[in-house]
Amino acid sequence: MITLTTIADVRASCDAARAAGGRVGFVPTMGFFHEGHRSLMRAARAADDFVVVSLFVNPTQFGPNEDLGAYPRDPDGDRAVTEAEGIDVLFTPAVDEMYPAGARTTVHVDGLTERLCGASRPGHFDGVTTIVAKLFSIVGPSRAYFGRKDAQQLAVIRRMATDLDLPVDVVGCPLVREVDGLALSSRNVYLDADARQAATILSGALYTASEAVVRGQRDAAAIRQLVVDTIGHAPQVRVDYVEVVDAATLEPIEQITSDTLVALAAFVGKARLIDNVTITFAAGDPTPDLGVLTASSGMQEADH
Ligand code: AMP
Repeated sequence: MITLTTIADVRASCDAARAAGGRVGFVPTMGFFHEGHRSLMRAARAADDFVVVSLFVNPTQFGPNEDLGAYPRDPDGDRAVTEAEGIDVLFTPAVDEMYPAGARTTVHVDGLTERLCGASRPGHFDGVTTIVAKLFSIVGPSRAYFGRKDAQQLAVIRRMATDLDLPVDVVGCPLVREVDGLALSSRNVYLDADARQAATILSGALYTASEAVVRGQRDAAAIRQLVVDTIGHAPQVRVDYVEVVDAATLEPIEQITSDTLVALAAFVGKARLIDNVTITFAAGDPTPDLGVLTASSGMQEADH
């Protein structure tokens, strides 16, 4: 594996891989790797000839009062993970490499970015789509891998790729959870022991909602209320939003009769966490997709 820090070097190595007939796979990340990130790397490694992982804590997707300064970082541990996963290129640009003075262009996806996390994080998705569009342009991947943990982000990136005719297949990968259901997140490091315990209520509420849909409940407002009530007054937990929306358009729905996303965000202790379940209707019956459980957090020992 090589670690590269300049756009020119990444372009050159990806050009060389393509010239040799290889397909390039790409996994964009903000680092502090856990098993969720590793699952994306493995999917790319299994499908593509040449795999690029970017590690860039993108300042433009953080609001002024958010955790950019505190965002967890572990460059050495992350490099070891990408090496262990057989990644070809780890791209770790500096901020001024990605945002040189004078840059004036933003990619904005309308509508899908205004609700759910977009409502409480104004400008967040403009930061995401702009950096992902730039990274796609630099890497030129055939396939790019995103976790369904960030379901809204995945929907927004798919919309952007379609609307801009980007020649990349956007691949959604399963949400990876701890054995007790907590969705893996770099931000889980902010949780102390009590908050970590309290955080399990989020996935618990989504499991409860999924069961209700499987038993026949189709009323979106009732499902939303069930999630809110299940979280209830759990200590250290404050709901930011719970929404029941169309899985592709993210428009609110009244009846759960086609592919549906139940998404939530909550403040737990010092962390703002998100979680979701997608309910599909492929064979007529609702099938909740809550992701997969992992036996290990995948985090490097000692440091995390
Ligand atoms: P981040 O480093 O948090 O920006 O995440 C980079 C990628 O990893 C995104 O596509 C995320 O959706 C994905 N990811 C983060 N956590 C998980 C998880 N628990 N399961 C699956 N994918 C994840």
